[in-house]
Amino acid sequence: METGGSPAVAVRNTVLTPKSIVYQKFGSKASYEIEEIQESAQNECPGLAITQKGPCLYRCSLQLPEIYVVSGIFKKKKEAEQNAAELALEKLGINPTSSNPTQQDPWDALVGRVKFLFSDEFLSSLHPLSGHLRAALQREGDLYGSIPASVIAVLDAKVSSLSKVIDSKVELNPYLVIPYVMKAAAQLSGIVITSAEQHWIRRQNPYPPEIIDSAIEESGSPRSFLIKAIYIPCSNEKTVDVVNLNVSSTGYYLDVVANQLGLVEASKVLITRPIGKASSEGRLYFPALQASLLEPSSDIGKNPCHSEGSCNARASYLSGEHIYGDAIFASIGYTWKSKDLWHEDLSMQSYYRMLLGKVPSGVYKLSRGAILTADLPLAFTTRANWRGSFPRDILCAFCRQHHLSEPVLSPLSISEALCEPSGSHKKLKVIDSAVEGTHCVNGCAVADGAKEAAESGGMFRCEVKINSKSQDLIIECSPKESYKKQSDSIQNASLKVLLWLDAYFKNLDMPVERLESYAHELDIKFYRQSFFKAFVLCQSIRMFQHSDSKEGRSHDSNSMPGHGIISLDIVGPDSGVSPSNGSLSCISYSATLVIESEKKRELLESSDEFEFEIGSRSVISQVEAAVTQMTVGQSAFLCMNLPPQDFVLAAADDSGNMLPLLSSKDCRLQYTITLIRVTEPLEDRMEQALFSPPLSKQRVEYALQHIKQSCAANLVDFGCGSGSLLDSLLNYQTSLEKIVGVDISHKSLIRAAKTLHSKLNTNSDADVPSKGITSAILYDGSITGFDSRLCGFDIGTCLEVIEHMEEDQAWLFGHVVLSYFCPKVLIVSTPNYEYNVILQRSNLSSQEEDPDDKTQSQSSKFRNHDHKFEWTREQFNHWATDLATEHNYSVEFSGVGGSGDIEPGFASQIAVFRRETSPLVDDSPKVADLEHQYNVVWEWDSNNRSCSAF
Ligand code: SAH
Ligand code: MG
Repeated sequence: METGGSPAVAVRNTVLTPKSIVYQKFGSKASYEIEEIQESAQNECPGLAITQKGPCLYRCSLQLPEIYVVSGIFKKKKEAEQNAAELALEKLGINPTSSNPTQQDPWDALVGRVKFLFSDEFLSSLHPLSGHLRAALQREGDLYGSIPASVIAVLDAKVSSLSKVIDSKVELNPYLVIPYVMKAAAQLSGIVITSAEQHWIRRQNPYPPEIIDSAIEESGSPRSFLIKAIYIPCSNEKTVDVVNLNVSSTGYYLDVVANQLGLVEASKVLITRPIGKASSEGRLYFPALQASLLEPSSDIGKNPCHSEGSCNARASYLSGEHIYGDAIFASIGYTWKSKDLWHEDLSMQSYYRMLLGKVPSGVYKLSRGAILTADLPLAFTTRANWRGSFPRDILCAFCRQHHLSEPVLSPLSISEALCEPSGSHKKLKVIDSAVEGTHCVNGCAVADGAKEAAESGGMFRCEVKINSKSQDLIIECSPKESYKKQSDSIQNASLKVLLWLDAYFKNLDMPVERLESYAHELDIKFYRQSFFKAFVLCQSIRMFQHSDSKEGRSHDSNSMPGHGIISLDIVGPDSGVSPSNGSLSCISYSATLVIESEKKRELLESSDEFEFEIGSRSVISQVEAAVTQMTVGQSAFLCMNLPPQDFVLAAADDSGNMLPLLSSKDCRLQYTITLIRVTEPLEDRMEQALFSPPLSKQRVEYALQHIKQSCAANLVDFGCGSGSLLDSLLNYQTSLEKIVGVDISHKSLIRAAKTLHSKLNTNSDADVPSKGITSAILYDGSITGFDSRLCGFDIGTCLEVIEHMEEDQAWLFGHVVLSYFCPKVLIVSTPNYEYNVILQRSNLSSQEEDPDDKTQSQSSKFRNHDHKFEWTREQFNHWATDLATEHNYSVEFSGVGGSGDIEPGFASQIAVFRRETSPLVDDSPKVADLEHQYNVVWEWDSNNRSCSAF
């Protein structure tokens, strides 16, 4: 900020420092908290993770009984504290600088600036404001350059920053600059003339003709043009529509705008800040009806839209400012680049896109160029799999849009807390949160918590704070998860905040309790009063009330995959290559509005190559549901219910064609989708590329050995997925007669059923290894639940499954299997976390990395984003040994990939449990016998080869 001299220094010399004033008033009730900020975190460019550490900077937050402020960023802790105290005093209306003689300076500067703006010299300069003066001089008989004070207020940065120094309220209400401009002009008698009621300013004496000529000449021969703008009527009943502004190079465009608004002249028009992209000239123009807007005493915090009829809710929502009366949204004005009037046609589509851009998921959709199809993902898995704007950038854009302070992102390094002895405030804080995150119950050594957090993969946590322009804390997010990379922690924390804000914006009527509980789920705290105050303008409008996603997706059964699908046809041969969670799918698609009965179609959106990650909901659930059922090369015809009208209009080039269609009852949205390719998740690619035979094959072979040794007649595969183990077993001659698979993923089970069905039916005709199999069943159910049909099997396998459950569930599974199902042998495999360093060193995983990133670490902490944990050998040992001891099993450890004797052990670690005693034989029928919790998805029998319906 241009403060002209440093008030802080002046204050220190003459009166008390801000901090000592705060101390006098609040004593020990004032609590300062210093936060260290790594410079790299601040400067980090989107898409570029800087891991080199810059010098330490500091920010200070100050909590007083009634208010909370956060300072700017400073090199010294002391400066940050003084700044926080200064801000607090400012907010409390205590002015420590009142006796400061330099106060006079900004006034003089403002008067001087206004004088300069009406000088001969300024008229021919390249400044957006001089364009207005030149244009005004084109009016018949105007030789004075009569322009509205509002134009000066909004276009001259110096005027507005000086006004802010004079009166900090200007920060909250930019229209307050106008009275200051008028006041400054009033001091320039003999130079400029003002009209207090009209709010215009002009020269006292005409510009000399030669000055006018030379300034105007350059603009070439007279031209006139029609510019398309958007008319937003004040009354919500009237529709928003395109309006033509007939502008000519020999007139003043603001007069045209004024006429269009039914006003006599330009000085009655107020202009907003640019809306949308900071670089755009899109602004709202509206009548200066409300004199109170220009009163320093007006309270921006209360919502006049509720009390006064003249408030334009749609325009206010769009601009984030109070707008009164009808408004025009136009992209027109003078720039720094040329003396010509710059302009651009706006369409209804641009209006709807602006509206969309107010909402986090809307910003994401726009950044993907897929308004109907994309959706803000529920998870940031890896940088490599993310498409579109990054969460952090969306959050920054959101805050700017809504006139909030820049979000404060504070990545905390856990490793630092570990290495250094405790002491500073910051370190203690880090350790606290680490303990919390790992549920350390016995008051154990604080460092253990941090150590565990570090072992579980992460070294960074990031906190996010969002403050209003007046530095009220609105939202605070302290995620429990930790990440290896600082930038990942930043993106994930930002995403949490975005998801929550998005849920709120999609349903502004959401009861506060819901909002609270969703916030809790996302580790967010929000401060009701300041939150609702910050978004007061948004509440006056209910435009984005999506019928299909009212409560944020996590609460919402309506957005279950596939909801809203009317029909889905998949055509083309099954290539066997199908997407799974974590894989990247590339599709081509087109989305069309269709009225079948009238044979009408309008293309809304299409793409030849659209890549997205499966499983993170980065596309609408209907499209994801379709794609997960396809194989590469197949096409799908998906017919679904209409999305919200605002989306359609934002996607459509020509809203004129769409509106009549949309009002028809049998209007549907139809997608044609072709699955072009699938890139498997990193884990699968690594397992195939780095191990020969692939790791998955080695696991199957390992299981096979045990099957052979034990002469097992029947087998259960716990968490069988798409049946890769069961399918492979059919290629070998074994003693098996009955095979069973259980999984909770219905989709995978269907896939497994298809493969096993065709293989078993073909095989039983020929003389092939699997001839011995007489029965095969697939159950849909959770392996942590009980089903008596799984009791007493010879062998159980559970390959690469437990890490997909929460740790307590993994324990529960162990108890259920060993105490109820009691297989003679149980084989459990899971990734060895310690082996990850080797995988990360491989070329394959570094392809995933940002090329600018110098670190060796992988962008996600685990091999697969669906993993809830990955254990070290010690952790796995602990799990298996405890379970074995408790349930009378012996256990042996082994693995596949790498070697058990060489650090860091096998790539996949395996525990083989063997039952020591036969289970108690009890002839009386157990209650459990009756318990059938699982659903049969598919059943095959060698005698009748029948199968139950899927
Ligand atoms: N065993 C298979 C699949 C491993 S992927 C293979 O080696 O190829 C992990 C599988 O565990 C997924 O199919 C997932 O649906 C399943 N899973 C996760 N939690 C489960 C639970 N509680 N009950 C049953 N299956 C579960
Ligand atoms: Mg796994």
